[in-house]
Amino acid sequence: MKRAKAKAREKLEKRKPIEHNPLFKRWKKGDVRVALVYPNAYAGGISNIGLQQIYAEVNSLEGFVCERFYGDVFNCERSVETGSYLKDFDIALFSIQFEDDVFRVAKIISSLPAEKPVKIAGGPCVLENPLPLVPYFDYFYIGEVDRDVKRMLEVVLSGEENGCILKSESAVSLAECGEKVKVRKAKLKEHLRKEIIGQGVYGESFLLEVGRGCKRGCSFCVVRQIYRPCRWRELSLLLEVAEDARSDVERIALISPSVTDHPNAKELMWELVNMGFEVSPSSMRADTIDEEMAELLVECGQKSVTIAPEAGSEKLRRVLRKGIDRETVLSSAELVSSAGIRNVKMYYMIGIPGEDDEEIKGIVELTEEVKRKGVRVSVSVNPLVPKPHTPLQFAPFGGEPFDAFNPLKAIRTLKKRSKTLEKEFKKLGVRASVEDPEEFAVQTIISRGDVEVGKYLLAGKKAVLKEFSHLLGELSFERQPWEFIDHSYDFERLRKEYERLMEIAEVCLI
Ligand code: SF4
Repeated sequence: MKRAKAKAREKLEKRKPIEHNPLFKRWKKGDVRVALVYPNAYAGGISNIGLQQIYAEVNSLEGFVCERFYGDVFNCERSVETGSYLKDFDIALFSIQFEDDVFRVAKIISSLPAEKPVKIAGGPCVLENPLPLVPYFDYFYIGEVDRDVKRMLEVVLSGEENGCILKSESAVSLAECGEKVKVRKAKLKEHLRKEIIGQGVYGESFLLEVGRGCKRGCSFCVVRQIYRPCRWRELSLLLEVAEDARSDVERIALISPSVTDHPNAKELMWELVNMGFEVSPSSMRADTIDEEMAELLVECGQKSVTIAPEAGSEKLRRVLRKGIDRETVLSSAELVSSAGIRNVKMYYMIGIPGEDDEEIKGIVELTEEVKRKGVRVSVSVNPLVPKPHTPLQFAPFGGEPFDAFNPLKAIRTLKKRSKTLEKEFKKLGVRASVEDPEEFAVQTIISRGDVEVGKYLLAGKKAVLKEFSHLLGELSFERQPWEFIDHSYDFERLRKEYERLMEIAEVCLI
């Protein structure tokens, strides 16, 4: 019997990711058990600074203990720390980062008892539009939870609601009556000093969050809206935290939507390199690459650079307000190539308002020009999801206003363009991943839908897609379901911005 138990434990241990966890806390009688659930891959979850922060905060509280669940570890049913079952926890905090995650979340939650654990959702999808998740959750946390975890747990345990800690049925009432809930924003005065080190998307790294939000104004980007205002951490604080991490890791991942926009980005990176770290900037813009930055990236140990022109023509790049032109794309490729970085990954979107077959040719031509700079190019192309809270929230999926109620036509057009791109990239000898338009049509429904969408989640993506027109209804210039979330922007200003963008796109709105 004893031997069988030991064998089972050994088997369980083997399925766990290898990690160093200085924040682990053992449960003792009477402690409230909090599950932190990331319904996607471990590599992404362990590289998420927000999740690391929540875990540390819960475990620092007297009377609470936190364990983690990941989509690909025990299928999200048992915790990484002790192999405990999710159903045995008192509170479950779900972080919903991607639209795709909601299908798995619906399944996980429907396998749990209704009364326990108390189910709370937070993360970018909730900040955008939590309505499709209403049937599955007791609460939404609408904001940035850093240093507010204790209050959240107390409010939820009391069965009340308070400010951005909202019962899910209240979200429906607010959306219906036109009232708003103010999003909580965190101050970035401090930084986590100890983190769990595991094999994440940046390798075994310490995550250094240099800032949050973005000062740029790309019209398709939800980050500029839901994490506003743009905030940076002080250089001195970042260096102090890095110094502490020196004994734990050799690599630092710099986290922010646009790392090299930090006012002291170069100084920070040089200092980290001089401390002996390998440094991975999680994302950066091509227009911040100059000769020094290219050299610095080499010193940081970077083997590849990402350039995201997003569109193949100047016209569409102006529609997307990306602020990066062809010359910038080519000069940044040339700079990194001369510095010795031989791999460039390029990101594009299709289904942008004003797009036609010529624009698709533009994508191929620009990619070819970059390739001629002496780098190996790989390309990722995906259809645009017109996201809530962005000026493009008024645009239909596929970009063509006359197809707004004919999603099948939009999908057909996008599939044709995807095929053309795949063929052309093959001819060019460029590795390309061109995403399936149907997947992105589904993401559009999840990101823009209301509570009705939730009823279809258990039936899967195909069932949701079949209901496209029914679930998205008419595109409204008057009112959108997600407007009850107050991100401190003016609805009218977004609408005017959309009209200006459509003039550039030469799209007639009447
Ligand atoms: S630079 Fe990146 S993060 Fe910033 S607004 Fe543009 S797409 Fe969003």
